[in-house]
Amino acid sequence: MSFAEHLLRWYDEHARTLPWRGIHNAYHTWVSETMLQQTRVETVLSYYQRFIDRFPTVEALAAAPEDEVLKLWEGLGYYRRARNLHRGARQVAEELGGVIPSDVKELLKISGIGEYTAGAIASIAYDRCVPAVDGNVIRVVSRVRGIRENVGIPSVKRQITQAAAELVPQERPGDFNQAMMDLGATICVPGTPSCERCPVAEMCDACREGDAEDIPELPRKNPPKVINYDLCLIYNGDRVLMRQRTETMLQGLWIYPMIEEHHTAKQLPALVKRRIGLPVADIQPAGEAKHVFTHQVWQMKIYTMSTTAEAPDGWRFVTLEEMQALTIPTAVKKAKEIVLGQ
Ligand code: SF4
Repeated sequence: MSFAEHLLRWYDEHARTLPWRGIHNAYHTWVSETMLQQTRVETVLSYYQRFIDRFPTVEALAAAPEDEVLKLWEGLGYYRRARNLHRGARQVAEELGGVIPSDVKELLKISGIGEYTAGAIASIAYDRCVPAVDGNVIRVVSRVRGIRENVGIPSVKRQITQAAAELVPQERPGDFNQAMMDLGATICVPGTPSCERCPVAEMCDACREGDAEDIPELPRKNPPKVINYDLCLIYNGDRVLMRQRTETMLQGLWIYPMIEEHHTAKQLPALVKRRIGLPVADIQPAGEAKHVFTHQVWQMKIYTMSTTAEAPDGWRFVTLEEMQALTIPTAVKKAKEIVLGQ
């Protein structure tokens, strides 16, 4: 039996039943694969269903305002995925008559679709014989084929993609790619894999050599940068000051004023006046919070304070009711809870 036959037989017995599986629908594959990037399957399940219920077709997504798309994504993180998916849906609706292409090269022209997602859509939705190479597949292929160089080197990455492409069968390429992802997620895991349960152990170079734990060699990551912030909950009566971010990170999401570095309660009024343009009083410490992003760690000290002035340009005082409808990043969840009195 071939590698693919072994793997597909295992997949037929062990595949997880997931709502985006067993259907040939490029839009559903696109949404699910976008949500699954850097996010656990268990987390994605409820988000996926709500998203598809609200936007059942690519046209429905294209017609939605961005705020609504972000609100449905709230808590899932990596919001750039949502913005790109939305932009891509508009591109498909406006330029391609609502039809998601089946060809990898054409898919790659759509906003938010990279090599991996293109391979996943082409193979899963359209039965194209192409690989879908994500982190799990990189691990499985480099172990099976004994590729021991650092996978951050472009030529090594190309070698892995080529090796992955050679493994994909003409029959059931989509199931094969999903089986590879499942194998990487459940058996050929990072660290110590469960080779004794693996359906392709007999064909695996790393298993034969006994060095699977050392493969793949990953590029060294820089540690995330730690940034200290004073997060200011500025009240005008029962309304609190917020703004919609325009920065690339967390773009389009709503956030409270944040001043870099930690200061004393005494220093804050002058700083808030200078940075935000508001006179404030009644500074009270309200707690601390930490949020870890891929490249940054936010260490936040939260303060409440009050003002009688109007919101400066670019800011808005929002009522609690209005705040509930805005998309607020998980990074400032603690501050939101303080505002809501939770
Ligand atoms: S035999 Fe072990 S290292 Fe090789 S693919 Fe299977 S789980 Fe991974």
